[in-house]
Amino acid sequence: MIESFLPVFYIIAAASFILALKWMNSPVTARRGVLAGELGMLLAVVGTLLAHEVVDYKLIFIAFCIGSAIGVPIAYKMPMTAVPQQTALSHAFGALAAALVGTAEYYRMRPQGFTMAALGVETLLGFLTFTASLMAFGKLQELVPTRPVTYKGQNVVNLTLLAVTIAIGATLVATTGPPWMFPAFIGGSLLFGVLLIIPIGGSDMPTVIALLNSYAGLSCAAMGFVLGNSMLTIAGALNFASGFILSVIMCRAMNRSFTNVLFGAFGATQMSTAQASQRPVRSATPEEAASILDGVRKVIVIPGYGLAVAQAQHKLREMYDILTRHGVDVRFAIHPVAGRMPGHMNVLLAEADVPYDRLMEMDEINSEFAVTDVALVIGANDVVNPAARTDKNSPIAGMPILDADKARTVMVIKRSMSPGFAGIDNELYYMDKTLMLFGDAKSFVASIVKELGAPAH
Ligand code: NAP
Repeated sequence: MIESFLPVFYIIAAASFILALKWMNSPVTARRGVLAGELGMLLAVVGTLLAHEVVDYKLIFIAFCIGSAIGVPIAYKMPMTAVPQQTALSHAFGALAAALVGTAEYYRMRPQGFTMAALGVETLLGFLTFTASLMAFGKLQELVPTRPVTYKGQNVVNLTLLAVTIAIGATLVATTGPPWMFPAFIGGSLLFGVLLIIPIGGSDMPTVIALLNSYAGLSCAAMGFVLGNSMLTIAGALNFASGFILSVIMCRAMNRSFTNVLFGAFGATQMSTAQASQRPVRSATPEEAASILDGVRKVIVIPGYGLAVAQAQHKLREMYDILTRHGVDVRFAIHPVAGRMPGHMNVLLAEADVPYDRLMEMDEINSEFAVTDVALVIGANDVVNPAARTDKNSPIAGMPILDADKARTVMVIKRSMSPGFAGIDNELYYMDKTLMLFGDAKSFVASIVKELGAPAH
């Protein structure tokens, strides 16, 4: 009976996934998008559990409890700045699940031809994404060396291993093969995942994780063909496409080449740890900053990674409220790769209930800086570094930036003259119109708020 309803469950679930992706495109509809995605997943899981042959519901319930006992604390305890690590872990387990299902199906059916080809793609990508994601997690969490580990002939070794593994897989498509072949195929995939990540610097991990997301999606899509489950193929294909598009967007926003993404071959690290220059800069106190901000008409706030580290979003919201009440037009300029994960700044500001219509994308706001009184940079560095425009040899040359330097006055809240993610000095800090506001973002913004006057109740 339930079998006849299964296509309806799946069609609603697939539509929910597509709507979820669409709604998550904008902060206004993002919550609805998350709910739609969750509903789709619930329908897909319930439909599958009811309609397909299930060996033992008890085992599934036990697995569900163990998974939830691990997943729920991770979701609640991880700070927002650690979301890339959390994402790496969830990809690792998702990919492992797909790979284990593939392994079980291999020993159950011993398929050949098209089904074996799909199973090969599923297990190869599943196992390699598992170890690659664990390595990415280790690098981000600094459990393994974050620097790129390279040696002579590395690419040849990696490509040979991949070619041998694929050749074993291809043999299994054509023949049953001896019993050692499938375990060797698994071993090659697991090892390739590790070798793929070791030459990549920790700083490139967020982009790599977006790419691994797409690999895991492709593995699930292939699993859909193996199991004859159209829902898995649809969800996997959506996952593949969205992860892939995201990694391309991140690469473009950082001016990394598309080919590097495609072949997962980020060899070089960007970190060049510049010595902070000894040149003089102008600095100001919270009182001075508050009196300037209170006397102008247009302010653009540029949030960056330091805002997230300091958790200054709620204080920033208080400052926004007071300035707005005082008649100042305050907007927020969002760079696509500000922070350490896509949408990092949107999520932070949404958490503090900053009105969405005050958040401007880079392309929308860049022409406004020239007619802006103050560009207030809070914990951002690379995304406002004019070297991207002027210095062809800079590691960030060609990266699109927010044109903060075109505002009449620039104020920068950061703790020191240390460089940001790309490890390079920033000319913006030495300009005559720039005031450095040295301090932790949260306490500095709190001091400005105090100077501006307590919020009205
Ligand atoms: P950034 O260039 O990393 O600079 C952050 C600045 O925040 C630092 O210069 C630091 O200076 C300051 N800071 C740190 N803690 C602070 C605190 N508690 N209070 C005040 N300031 C603090 O950040 P960004 O401008 O946001 O640029 C993001 C970078 O990450 C880009 O290079 C981008 O390519 C890269 N990236 C982004 C993503 C993504 O998806 N968003 C992914 C991978 C890589 P002090 O130490 O002097 O305070």
